[in-house]
Amino acid sequence: MKVGVFSTKPYTRTFFEEANGAFGHELAFFESRLTTETAGLAAGLPAICAFVNDVLDARVLSTLADGGTRLIALRCAGFNNVDLSAAGRHKLTVVRVPTYSPHAVAEHAVALMLTLNRKIHRAAARVREGNFALDGLMGFDMHGRTAGIVGTGRIGFEAARILNGFGCRLLAYDIAENPDCVALGVRYADLHQLFAESDIVSLHCPLLPATRHLVNDESIARMKPGVMLINTSRGALIDTRAVIDGLKSGRIGYLGLDVYEEEADLFFEDLSDQVIQDDVFARLTTFSNVVITGHQGFFTRDALDEITRTTLANISDYEARRSCPNEISIDRLRK
Ligand code: NAD
Repeated sequence: MKVGVFSTKPYTRTFFEEANGAFGHELAFFESRLTTETAGLAAGLPAICAFVNDVLDARVLSTLADGGTRLIALRCAGFNNVDLSAAGRHKLTVVRVPTYSPHAVAEHAVALMLTLNRKIHRAAARVREGNFALDGLMGFDMHGRTAGIVGTGRIGFEAARILNGFGCRLLAYDIAENPDCVALGVRYADLHQLFAESDIVSLHCPLLPATRHLVNDESIARMKPGVMLINTSRGALIDTRAVIDGLKSGRIGYLGLDVYEEEADLFFEDLSDQVIQDDVFARLTTFSNVVITGHQGFFTRDALDEITRTTLANISDYEARRSCPNEISIDRLRK
């Protein structure tokens, strides 16, 4: 099947070309992000492959459908960037990769926790300058601390498993309890209790209307003074301006982000020669107790291998008119 692969980076191409030997699709790689301006590139391509910051709103989907596209193959788990009602109207099938290595993202979340706690980012910079003083680098034992996991699906469970290994007390909030978490000894609580009791809050739920700005002025006021907040899920789970206020007041003691509300204009690009125009993001980078990575939670060899193979298999299922287990059921999601 002819597939237009948007937001291609050199590593995307390497993984897709290597795996495609077993699938035989005809891949056209586009470096540009899928947006209103670039959607025309897909004209005549029955399938397109999109990533987290590609725009799949009603306008783009209409252009794609008019150009003959029938399949949207997301090479990611989250699908908050797709207007599913519009996809339904245009009879576009949407598939995704729901289950690639949950370890990659959970391990990255814990990497952010340890970096912030033990101030590895500051310590490494000091040592390179020949400054071996320890002042300001004091951390805390993870053992015995309370970690609150919001969203205990595949990634949240893996994060809980790792933190259980550290000897953390585990609280969780989810709309549905995960029996594996219960078996691990995780205690489910409501969000208020989780925010009030957790030393570390880690977000692992999807971005939905119900979860947008889950962390806001009100929820931050309920958190323990000096709380550590980690978001490796989707940027808009957090009201960034509220979090900046929380950092300034000291209510938030540590912030680790792999995602950011307005990341589409920044992440995955080398902007080191440019002036960052986003003042909110720029303010975040001024805090010594904030560590930001540019949406790299998924970025392990193992995860990319799985993402690529599943994406190509999803496309093959569609082409062969087989039912695809990774198709997003648009009717179910409308509820
Ligand atoms: P999952 O579907 O296995 O788990 C999500 C969990 O969130 C489920 O248990 C679900 O019941 C729960 N949930 C749904 N609505 C909720 C609500 N209102 N409040 C609390 N919990 C709710 O998904 P996953 O594979 O664990 O991925 C979680 C998220 O991680 C994805 O949605 C995606 O946004 C993000 N992610 C980030 C990266 C990265 O590179 N940083 C990579 C993959 C996924």
